Amino acid sequence: MKYPKIRELREAVVSLFTPAYTSKFPAEPHVPFEKFRGKPVVDDANCVGCETCTNVCPPGAITFTDDKEKQIRILRRDYGKCIFCGQCQDHCITGKGVILSDKIYDIAVFDRDKVVEYQEKELVICRNCSAVITTREHLCHMHRKLGPRAFSSILNLNMLNEKLRLSEGQDTEVEIADELKRKDMFNVICPNCLRQVLVKYIVEGA
Ligand code: SF4
Ligand code: SF4
Repeated sequence: MKYPKIRELREAVVSLFTPAYTSKFPAEPHVPFEKFRGKPVVDDANCVGCETCTNVCPPGAITFTDDKEKQIRILRRDYGKCIFCGQCQDHCITGKGVILSDKIYDIAVFDRDKVVEYQEKELVICRNCSAVITTREHLCHMHRKLGPRAFSSILNLNMLNEKLRLSEGQDTEVEIADELKRKDMFNVICPNCLRQVLVKYIVEGA
């Protein structure tokens, strides 16, 4: 039988009479250190659903799915996977869509679904090929950022026209019949379809 070393014995005795370094969480609330990076908190009013944060999140805690039928984008944030790196905050295009809290850090739960949050954002869909363009709020955010320069993009111009009810003078969406026509350049279509119209009718002069 090996006898314990004197040093180890001394450490064991000392540790019996010194206070614990760890807190008694969850029996007692834990007070985090200053500048502690806590749980990312989403401000839905300032999140435009652009999906940038889904591309920079290292563990893939943020994901999204587009439902073309319902025309909504569902963003899913799983804080059970979050490593509190702050990349989502740093790369948020509005600068206010998600901010790491210095108050909320307790995400220990028995049911992992309880730390998953969802958001829904309205999608803008190409009226010709049904491709997803982006979310409506994302486009509006770009309009606000670009100001008058937004009108250099036909898509932005058409979206704004529709908002102002100038296009066709109606409240309803304008359907695209059969195939793309020159006038569809002024409809809400994706960049690929717009390119087709431009090449067919403007460049080739068909
Ligand atoms: S803090 Fe980091 S890991 Fe957590 S959701 Fe944001 S990007 Fe993902
Ligand atoms: S980057 Fe910002 S605005 Fe875009 S989806 Fe993430 S939180 Fe929302």
